[in-house]
Amino acid sequence: MTTVAEPAELLRRLRPDSVTHIERVPTRAGETVPWPGWVPDPLRAAFAQRGVTAPWRHQAEAASHAHAGRHVVVATGTASGKSMAYQLPALAALLADPRATTLYLAPTKALAADQLRAVAALDIDGVRPACYDGDTPREEREWIRQHSRFVLTNPDMLHHGILPGHAAWATFLRRLRYVVVDECHSYRGVFGSHVSHVLRRLRRAAARYGRTPVFVLASATSGDPATSAKRLTGLVVEAVTEDASPRGGVTFALCEPAQQPVFEGGGDATPVRRSALRESADLLADAVINGVRTLAFVRSRRGAEAVATMARRSLDEAVPGLGARVAAYRGGYLREERRELEAALHSGELLGLASTNALELGVDLVGLDAVVICGWPGTRASLWQQAGRAGRNGHEALAVLVARDDPLDTYLVHHPEALFGRPVEATVLDPANPYVLAPQLCSAAYEAPLTRADLPLFGPEAAAVLDELVAEGILRRRPSGWYWTGKERPEVDLRGTGGLPVCVVEAATGRLLGTVDPGSSHFMVHPGAVYLHQGESYIVDDLDLDDAVALVHREEPEWSTHARDVTSLSVVSVRSYVDAGPVGLFFGDVDVTSQVVSYQRRRIGSGEVLGTWPLELPTRELRTTAVWFTLSPQSLEAAGVDDVPGGLHAAEHAAIGLLPLVATCDRWDIGGLSTAGHPDTGAPTVFVYDGHPGGAGFAERAYKIAAAWLQATRDAIDGCACETGCPSCVQSPKCGNGNNPLSKADAVRVLDVVLSSLPR
Ligand SMILES: [Zn+2]
Ligand SMILES: [Zn+2]
Repeated sequence: MTTVAEPAELLRRLRPDSVTHIERVPTRAGETVPWPGWVPDPLRAAFAQRGVTAPWRHQAEAASHAHAGRHVVVATGTASGKSMAYQLPALAALLADPRATTLYLAPTKALAADQLRAVAALDIDGVRPACYDGDTPREEREWIRQHSRFVLTNPDMLHHGILPGHAAWATFLRRLRYVVVDECHSYRGVFGSHVSHVLRRLRRAAARYGRTPVFVLASATSGDPATSAKRLTGLVVEAVTEDASPRGGVTFALCEPAQQPVFEGGGDATPVRRSALRESADLLADAVINGVRTLAFVRSRRGAEAVATMARRSLDEAVPGLGARVAAYRGGYLREERRELEAALHSGELLGLASTNALELGVDLVGLDAVVICGWPGTRASLWQQAGRAGRNGHEALAVLVARDDPLDTYLVHHPEALFGRPVEATVLDPANPYVLAPQLCSAAYEAPLTRADLPLFGPEAAAVLDELVAEGILRRRPSGWYWTGKERPEVDLRGTGGLPVCVVEAATGRLLGTVDPGSSHFMVHPGAVYLHQGESYIVDDLDLDDAVALVHREEPEWSTHARDVTSLSVVSVRSYVDAGPVGLFFGDVDVTSQVVSYQRRRIGSGEVLGTWPLELPTRELRTTAVWFTLSPQSLEAAGVDDVPGGLHAAEHAAIGLLPLVATCDRWDIGGLSTAGHPDTGAPTVFVYDGHPGGAGFAERAYKIAAAWLQATRDAIDGCACETGCPSCVQSPKCGNGNNPLSKADAVRVLDVVLSSLPR
């Protein structure tokens, strides 16, 4: 069977009651420009050898900023050739000055290795590019420090290895011309805040050797990349955001599974949304029937297997044997198995594949017609990366986003402009977080005593934090500056804000699967929790908080787990506020006391609650930042709000759900509290706080862009088709009060009062 199927056929077969929007993203012809005049001939020739005869406009533009000495961030789509934007100026400088050096930073070793291959392939004389990371053999390190002029590493190595041992890097730093920060959008939250100081330490170290290198950053498309890049580096950064690379046409359908009546025990029919997994499985089956080669992205392996099984079952019902043309992609395949799978898809023997994101690593699938994305993948960058899998030479590709039961998914499928217009989602971090600043200042003082002249580099908060460190005896103040007093190097974890990260260990093998920061550990790795690692499921047997270890075993249960907490909160100080008559909007510091008390198991696919299990975990105290709004009781009464606690509580849940729209974060990064009367504000109040000690920038971003954030929240609630509230709008899986009280209608009224008062 080798029908040339058109994705359009699949589009026609989408359930009309599910489709909320169809967007045609037209083909874009790429726009090349001549090589900038400063690009030396050997470099042009090297690119020509690789088949590149001219740069895209954005590549040339970003490269020319950097060449002229201006720090620059290039923020364009996936596969738009951002590498050339830094390769051009860096390699031109290395050619012009046979001693000049470049330092390249990637968030992962794999990306650094990939970029090493790209630079090495250009084969420019005397550059001697090399990776320098934890895997680099000791005997090679000295050679790299002395001879490589293009060193590729990661922030962890810079922090733990290069900066503390800067004397060994003196030759390299003395000649440092460019610092490249690739995939800089991945430096967000607490990790991003740490990395921002690691880069400041790098700038200080280079300055001590007489260099002020130019920074070139590459980012996924995001809202306000210049501001994010400035926060990350502390430098004024030009932004290049117009993508001039060619792109195939995509028809993008947004789907919200329809509500259908469910009869329980002969009683009344309750409308329940078809699950996103079910919808995705049906789409996959339809695709196979029509000969459309389709890949479905599902978050967990269990979910991917459920989608494949459901699709196979309905195909076999239609045409016995047809189910065999659908498979689930599991991670961890051997190379030959992967090649077999690729070949089967290529030949059309296999037509449908359900996979987790693990597929994004190293599997080369060409010739796909359509992609089904089950649930918002978290960021626009991931969305386009997944959609970009479809489209074979010249054919129009089809992408379908299926909304899960979640306020943000609901909002996005009803507000296509948020997906296809200019992004508002920004990468946020908070260099001023004292829990990040203090250990980073210690690291800096260890590298070289801090002087008064260094302080502006670390921000206006640095002076006060230094005073505290001196008072605690951690640093010593002398007339010449601040000195590290310890014998050993300060132990600083780039992913934490105090406290050891919890190691997740497979008990049977002793294998370390990953780490969870202590703040999220009670939620994510409590006993009984399902822990996902690269799409594989594990169940937590034991959480040892003293030793910071969670022991897990492999298991694929048919449920997911959702922890619930109870929280109280007090206001410590207000940093900034907007007085809007009956409404007040605040940003400040708060103390949060919370305890994870129980967890629910929910059946994968249907979301049915299978039961609630109690947990015995200690309470946690958290000093962090929060955004909150207050409303006068009179304004609520005038707006006809009947159920004040229910309206505030519902608004709080949805507001938390929508925060990732304006700031890249996930549910573990934020928490909330609402009350009809708070002792510290004396009014009905909704708080949304950062879940990390000292804050990570999420609440601050929400405060700054409050009107847009709360408008989206209001529209998500109002746009949901349910009657009285559901998981797609105001119910939260992690609510400590069992989603009680909740009033959907009053939440809209509450937000209307806020929005009509806030200045736009
Ligand atoms: Zn709803
Ligand atoms: Zn709640």
